[in-house]
Parts: sequence; C-alpha cells; structure tokens
Amino acid sequence: MSTHAVTRQDFDQYMVPVFAPAAFIPVKGEGSRLWDQDGREYIDFVGGIAVNALGHAHPSAVKALTEQANKIWHVSNLFTNEPALSLAKQLVENTFADKVFFCNSGAEANEAALKLARKVGLLSGIAGKNQIVAFNNSFHGRTLFTVSAGGQAKYSKEFAPLPSGIQHIAYNDLDAAKAAINEHTCAVIVEPIQGEGGVITAHVEFLKGLRELCDQNGAVLIFDEVQTGVGRTGSLYAYMNTGVTPDILTTAKALGGGFPIAAMLATDQFAQQFAVGDHGTTYGGNPLATAVGDAVFAIINTPDILNGVNERFTYFKAGLEKINDKYQIFREVRGAGLLIGCVLKSDYAGQANRINALAAAEGVLGLIAGPDVVRFTPSLIIPYKDIDEGLARFERAVAQFTQSVAA
Ligand SMILES: *Cc1c(COP(=O)(O)O)cnc(C)c1O
Repeated sequence: MSTHAVTRQDFDQYMVPVFAPAAFIPVKGEGSRLWDQDGREYIDFVGGIAVNALGHAHPSAVKALTEQANKIWHVSNLFTNEPALSLAKQLVENTFADKVFFCNSGAEANEAALKLARKVGLLSGIAGKNQIVAFNNSFHGRTLFTVSAGGQAKYSKEFAPLPSGIQHIAYNDLDAAKAAINEHTCAVIVEPIQGEGGVITAHVEFLKGLRELCDQNGAVLIFDEVQTGVGRTGSLYAYMNTGVTPDILTTAKALGGGFPIAAMLATDQFAQQFAVGDHGTTYGGNPLATAVGDAVFAIINTPDILNGVNERFTYFKAGLEKINDKYQIFREVRGAGLLIGCVLKSDYAGQANRINALAAAEGVLGLIAGPDVVRFTPSLIIPYKDIDEGLARFERAVAQFTQSVAA
C-alpha cells in the first residue's frame, strides 16, 4: 500500500509553504475516526479545528449535499436561492439577529463586520468615529484587516502597512476598555472565548462592561463566534450563556460541518446601514454551502445535541484530569463544551506540539492553542467509546513524553 499517486512529499514540491501538514495524508473519515493512505486509523480530537461538528461523513450532511448537488450548484447573487433563505431564517429565528450576510470563511465574516462598523461610524455623523478596539492575543482571520484586528503581531507585522485605527488592549481588563472606548470608537470586536489564543474565557462582568461601554459611546459590539458558535461550547452560541447580546456576530467553522460557509449576523439597526453594492462576494450564500449549513444547523440546534456537548465536556475533562493526576503535566484543563485547552505546567512550556506529534504516532489527533496549550475540538457528537479510546492513546503519548523529558 505504499505506491500512492500523490504523496506527502508532493506538498513540499507543489504547495505554497504556509502550512506544515502532518507526515501522513488522511483519505477517509467516518464519525470521529480517520484513516490515512496506509490504512492507519486515528481518533480525531481535532475535528478539522472545530469545523467537523457532526464528525466525518454524517449521513444527513451527505444527503443534503448530494441532493443539492443534483439540483443547482451556483446562481450568483444576482439571484437568491432557497437553501440560503432557509438557513438565514433559522439563524434569525434562533438568535438575537434580524439579518444575515453569507460568506465563505471566518475572516470574511469578520471583514464584513468591521466594514459595516466603519460604515456605521461614518453615518453617525461624528467626525473620526472610525476607531476599532480589539484585544491582545485575539484571532480574527488572515485577511489584512482581520490580521490587523487580531492581537498577535506575528501574523501581521510582515505585511505592513496595515489598516489603521485599530487599538489593542488586554483581554478581560475592563479598566483598559474604559480607557480605550470613547465617542470615536465605531466597534469593539471580541471572542467570548479566545480559541487560537489559548482557550481563555471572557469573564461575564467583562463582557457586560463592554456592552455598557458600547451603548454609552454608540459603538457596535461584535462577537467573533467563528470558533465558539454552532454548539461548540454547549449552547447554540456562546453569548447565550453570558447574558450579553452583541450587535453583530460572526459564525463560520462548525456552521457547514466541513463545507466552507460563514455568516455575519446583525440587528436591523446596523444591518440596514449597508446598502446595495456596499459589500459582496461571489460565492457567499452558495446553494451547496447553505444546503449543508441548513441541515447541520438544524441537527445541532436541538436540546439533545447541545446537552450532549455539555455532558461530553464533563466526561472528557474528567478523563484528562485522571491522566494528569498520574503524569502531572497540565497546570489547568479549561474551556467549555468541546473546546478544551490543557495548559502545560511551566516545566513543559513550549512542548504542546511535541505532545501532539507523539499522540498522532499513537493514533489520536490533537491540536495546539499557542505553544503551551494542547487543544481538543472534536465532533460535537463524538461517541463516548471514541473519547475513551482516544484518551487511552493520548495517555500512552503522555507517558512517552514524560519519560523522554525525564531521560
Ligand atoms: C478560525 C477563526 C477565524 C478565521 O476563520 P477562517 O475561516 O480561517 O477565515 C476567525 N476568528 C476566530 C475566532 C477563529 O477561530
């Protein structure tokens, strides 16, 4: 089984080197299991980085995709289409929002949100109301505007000059927010849980404070729920657990369960400030993407699935803590729902990647959230027996890791 038409070496030969993919190539997935070109099986605790919310090849998602594929693939935004309207209706009826704009990625959803906020600032009539407040360590995507809004200089500094008018302050620091937000602020953009930044949860008091500051200063409060949305934290959207409602929310990753789709949700007050021609996208709201999203969203938005996410959090966390009782490598296991971060003790700082490499060799896939945090974002319906088997494999990797460090 080693004569493959394409190999991992081809990546280095043919692909722009912005990624460093694993040494193996997954070729098939079912539920929370994956197989590579050599037929090796892996338990998938990555879930496409919080994307494959229903695992791989979920029958309802496959059905939605193939049925739509036989009807109509693409019509352009010169026409609307039935799947897009159906998904938009679901999103509006189940959230704070009144209007939906579809696009293809989290970055594009945030780009739309930030552009809308700039337009809102302009229409306010207040001179210079174009300042954006964002947070250190945040992640909002890779377009130039969204890397600039993101709070990790390593992703933006090589691409200067950057869009201006963006200030970064400390996350969970309400005093810093009070000092930064004023009548010239058009938007505050925040992740309810910083995902890429280390699985760090915003304090409810902090989010409440941001809401008040935005109200007092006429600024748009944007929640980036690209990672936390669509059931990931055990509620449909993370804001629903905070008592704080944003004006604009961005959602992507899990929305298509693996098919590329994203959306910006907004209240009428703000959505109506965009006019025909102000913003757009060729593929946004594409019938294939929205048909899959419509099916995936309907499945996840049920008490059964959402309660199951919370139950799996408790179960998964207990399993990780049991491993930690034995090997003492984590300072903390944190997160919500199936967005779990294991923070390495300072002795093991910077080793999250190494642990995951050992885990992959044992047949379980994990990811990182910065160099010191091992992150897990599996399918929201991962079977308990797959959690057990994955954690057993992970424990073997941790045992090897601690032995190799001690040696
Ligand atoms: C992944 C992510 C993005 C970017 O989404 P893309 O689809 O990669 O553009 C933006 N914000 C958050 C919080 C994310 O986790």
